[in-house]
Amino acid sequence: MMIRLSGINKNFGPVEAVRDLDLELECGKLLALLGPSGCGKTTTLRLLAGFDPPDTGEIEIDGFLVAGRGTNVPPEKRRVGVVFQDYALFPHLSVAKNVAYGLKGVVRGKRKDARVAEVLALARLTGMENRMPHELSGGQQQRVALARALAPEPAVILLDEPFSNLDASLRAEVRAEMREILTAAQATAVFVTHDQAEALSVADEVAVMFDGSVVQVAPPEELYHSPSTRAVAEFVGEANFVLGTAEDGRLRCVLGDVPACGTCEGKVEAMLRPESLRLRALTSEQTPPTGVGATVLAREFYGHDQLIKLRLDSGPVLCSRLGGGPGFRPGERVAVEVQGPALVFPKP
Ligand code: ATP
Repeated sequence: MMIRLSGINKNFGPVEAVRDLDLELECGKLLALLGPSGCGKTTTLRLLAGFDPPDTGEIEIDGFLVAGRGTNVPPEKRRVGVVFQDYALFPHLSVAKNVAYGLKGVVRGKRKDARVAEVLALARLTGMENRMPHELSGGQQQRVALARALAPEPAVILLDEPFSNLDASLRAEVRAEMREILTAAQATAVFVTHDQAEALSVADEVAVMFDGSVVQVAPPEELYHSPSTRAVAEFVGEANFVLGTAEDGRLRCVLGDVPACGTCEGKVEAMLRPESLRLRALTSEQTPPTGVGATVLAREFYGHDQLIKLRLDSGPVLCSRLGGGPGFRPGERVAVEVQGPALVFPKP
């Protein structure tokens, strides 16, 4: 393991910022700490970086104890590289000098110049060595900050909300670039985000935090399809919830008798992602031969896909996600069929 946090607690006066946190990350993986504002993500990152000591618990980085058991290794000796939210570039230093700063006290002379050139190439900044930070786009500034953090070959890179300063239009491109650079550098990295799409699209592992605790750690696909609680299911993407009865891998609910997965039986609450509700057009009077009848209430068109809000004839309002083709209009009648299993949770 490259990172191991065990039994971590951190209070600020009466605020329990981090509670009983255990977390591990393998070498070369990218972990997203995902959660709503105030759930303790930044505090966890700061504990890892060594900016704050934990009240209890231990932190190991690359097999070395850096916090706990009476130890508190200072940030500069932890072999961590930090990319701050505002990038924290030195405004009066060129790109090359900003990156060279990351190597202060690590290497000198020709080796330093060679390493600066190497990480600038890795971050696709070759040719921009002499530019000043204000002459760069937001995405380029972020790559300089990343190059500076990578330069001394740290064990771990920590990034605090790395995309929050960028326009929405730039974000997708910059996060793909960041992912590529970290992969090329074979870096182990942790980044903080409250944006589920960001976490799912770039991380290898996502740790979901609520109220100071990690509630689930899983690869993005597993988190999306098998959230451990209703709260995680709701936080990570859109979700429909229906009540029903589960038995022998089937769920009886307002959508009929559908396949089910999950560990509980009897009265349950089940989750269905919008894309598992398929729709077929009906004439207004027709009773569906399969599936259940519903009326379209609203449609949100996003180009690549669309969300259709509908009311089942039996009352509940659900949401279906379709491709970007022609959709259904408010007032139209549809038959709703379930594709794939519903995930069942104990009834609250
Ligand atoms: P955000 O996404 O808004 O940055 P977060 O998940 O990163 O939130 P933290 O910044 O870790 O959350 O804060 C967790 C809790 O600890 C919050 O209630 C916050 O107000 C509190 N907190 C954090 N740092 C301090 C501090 N230095 N002094 C007092 N309280 C703090």
